Amino acid sequence: MRVLVIEDETPLREQLTAQLRSEGYAVDAVSDGIEGLYFGNEYPVDIAILDLGLPKLSGIEVLKRWRSEGRTFPVLILTARGGWQDRVAGLEAGADDYLCKPFHMPEVLARLRALVRRAAGWASSVVSAGGIELDTSAQNVRAGGVPVELTAFEYKVLEYLMLHAGEFVSKTDLTEHLYDEDADRDSNVLEVLVARLRRKLDPQRTLAPIETLRGRGYRFRFERPHSVSVKPHETTLNVGNKPEQNGFTNRSGHTR
Ligand code: CA
Repeated sequence: MRVLVIEDETPLREQLTAQLRSEGYAVDAVSDGIEGLYFGNEYPVDIAILDLGLPKLSGIEVLKRWRSEGRTFPVLILTARGGWQDRVAGLEAGADDYLCKPFHMPEVLARLRALVRRAAGWASSVVSAGGIELDTSAQNVRAGGVPVELTAFEYKVLEYLMLHAGEFVSKTDLTEHLYDEDADRDSNVLEVLVARLRRKLDPQRTLAPIETLRGRGYRFRFERPHSVSVKPHETTLNVGNKPEQNGFTNRSGHTR
């Protein structure tokens, strides 16, 4: 997951960056509104942490411009304690959640996880499909009920693929969402990592949860059991493949 941090207080920005990286997030960190606006528009951001009091362009203005230009990634705003008017203005400008300074890092992490999960259409903190369970709170994984030991980075790869279960994720997409601008990117590393992840998840090769699509990318092949936010235009009448049910399906093909 790629997090954009926009915060002008250097110690706070550096602390957020270091802690998020230690949790396996890719982090782009900037210190003013103009640069923040640019990063949000130009980079594949999964979520932004946005301070409201920023030099050059206020956080509220950054947020309004992102939203008016169609950027839909979740935004967590940082506000001063007691600044309830700022929080209202932020939420009305398109923020998804807020935190008052000073905050505790576990709360930042919990809110980020919830926002990213929700944005991908998952309600529960345990993401489960095809016998693989990924607990986004405890950050652990079980396959067929058996705990699987993953490194922080292997976990992030699986998390990204599972949050987008059933969807094709190109190597470029995966690289861009898992590595920030400062990272040394190498697609061979990604291939080795996915191969290791497959062995750990599926040592007997019976589930084959991660498909490779012609060497270009990957797909977690088990689709989500249900979706919390199916948009009307993604709903199609279930004709043909399951005539006996004759209900509506979401895009993953499951009858609701
Ligand atoms: Ca500030």
